[in-house]
Amino acid sequence: MHFVVHCGMELLEYRRLVTKSRLIYDLALIAKQLTRPDHCLWCGLKCKPEGHHTDYRRPLRVEWICIACHKKEHARLGRLHYLTLDPV
Ligand SMILES: [Zn+2]
Ligand SMILES: [Zn+2]
Repeated sequence: MHFVVHCGMELLEYRRLVTKSRLIYDLALIAKQLTRPDHCLWCGLKCKPEGHHTDYRRPLRVEWICIACHKKEHARLGRLHYLTLDPV
């Protein structure tokens, strides 16, 4: 694999950020700092939605979406997901 830079961030560095962000998110869920709605915010399906990160630098800012929407979104983002980070 060759050296890839996304938004000035090296891929390894980005992966580390993702891992850290998910950890903070998990802990916040356990500590009930995050309120999970009872439906998907995108399609309205009644379910236990998952938190989708639009910016891993803001681990507590998530979009609550169902598994189907989440899968679809990540399939759509693919490698471009690396580019969805907002500028600091
Ligand atoms: Zn996601
Ligand atoms: Zn949905």
